[in-house]
Amino acid sequence: MNPARAIADLRELAARTGGPNGARRVCWTSEWEAAREFLRERLASLGGSVEVSVDPAGNLWAVLPGRSPETVVLGSHVDSVPAGGWLDGALGVMGALEVLRVLAGASSPAERTVALVDWADEEGARFGRSLLGSSAFAGSLDIEAVRELRDAEGVALPDALGAHGVAVDEMPTAGEGRLDSLCAYLELHIEQGPVLEAEGQPCAAVVGCVGVERHRLVFTGAAAHAGTTPMDRRADAGVAAARVMAGLPDIASRHGGVCTAGQLGLEPGIATAVAGRAELAVDQRHLDAGALAAMLADAVALWESAAASENCSVKAERIWSIEPVPFHPGLVRAAREACVDAGGRDEPLPSGALHDAAELARVVPAAMVFSSSVGGVSHSPAEDTPEVDLERALEAFGALAAQVISGGVPS
Ligand SMILES: [Zn+2]
Repeated sequence: MNPARAIADLRELAARTGGPNGARRVCWTSEWEAAREFLRERLASLGGSVEVSVDPAGNLWAVLPGRSPETVVLGSHVDSVPAGGWLDGALGVMGALEVLRVLAGASSPAERTVALVDWADEEGARFGRSLLGSSAFAGSLDIEAVRELRDAEGVALPDALGAHGVAVDEMPTAGEGRLDSLCAYLELHIEQGPVLEAEGQPCAAVVGCVGVERHRLVFTGAAAHAGTTPMDRRADAGVAAARVMAGLPDIASRHGGVCTAGQLGLEPGIATAVAGRAELAVDQRHLDAGALAAMLADAVALWESAAASENCSVKAERIWSIEPVPFHPGLVRAAREACVDAGGRDEPLPSGALHDAAELARVVPAAMVFSSSVGGVSHSPAEDTPEVDLERALEAFGALAAQVISGGVPS
């Protein structure tokens, strides 16, 4: 493993498909195709034994046969959000490319077959559906739900995908003929959070992706004049919502999760009126399903008592939820050891964001390695990681991959 080569590839990719305004590799666009063209060029330079193909969901595969057909998959995504960062997704693909490059240059085949995969449309930047290619591969994509999606210009998802050779009806077959041979999925990614940098750590194993409970609350009270309505005769929906916002940090710390109320709307929304209606979005995340449920129960009690104390009513609607996805314990242990050997964190981290690995973990033993992120910033042109941390993370990922490719860990 030569981390410098992977970093040089990342810089070349950024030069071709990025710029001062950040990465512009939005999936199902010509610039995303340009990023893939770069990947194909690099793969072609590895020689004839690497076979490149695209599956029915638009995921790009490069397979290097080993002595056994059992396949270790290394992947991430080259697509980005508009004005994205140079490392989100690309780090994992270029790290996988470097592993493949080393193996393709070896004098004899590896024990297990190795596949690089560049998942299509991880970001969901154009149609709002994240993890599109990996969920199709893992068999969890609801085709009917995505068929109706349109982008900001009104282009239907099936038309946009069709222009890039993907037929929506065929997407669920993406895993056919491939899923059965998989024995592990490994992904290298930037943390996209501030923990590793704050601790001065270059990299860490990831224990799993957190589950999410997201609700929209509507408090209904009575709009009233700010001057003439005595305090004891109000039904202030804004105060009820504020009580929820103020109570969430306690709930989060009690259960060791995170709770966010990032969206608040008040009506009539003027300085001279008591709010008769307040809308509040509450997002809760935890790695443990039981703790997530307990956190939600506490939040429900909180918003009901907040409404009651302000003479308001409250309606809650679940707008999104997903179960926590724990990664494979054996692979997480191996990833942790590889990170420690590379000078990284002793304890695995939870991932607060979703990744393709969360989809793959449904069907195959999976694990991830994180590199640090400067300031925790991502989905922004300012996204960055110190080169020395990238090197450590690439080393850890390479060592983990080597161990599994040579026949180690799973079961
Ligand atoms: Zn990503």
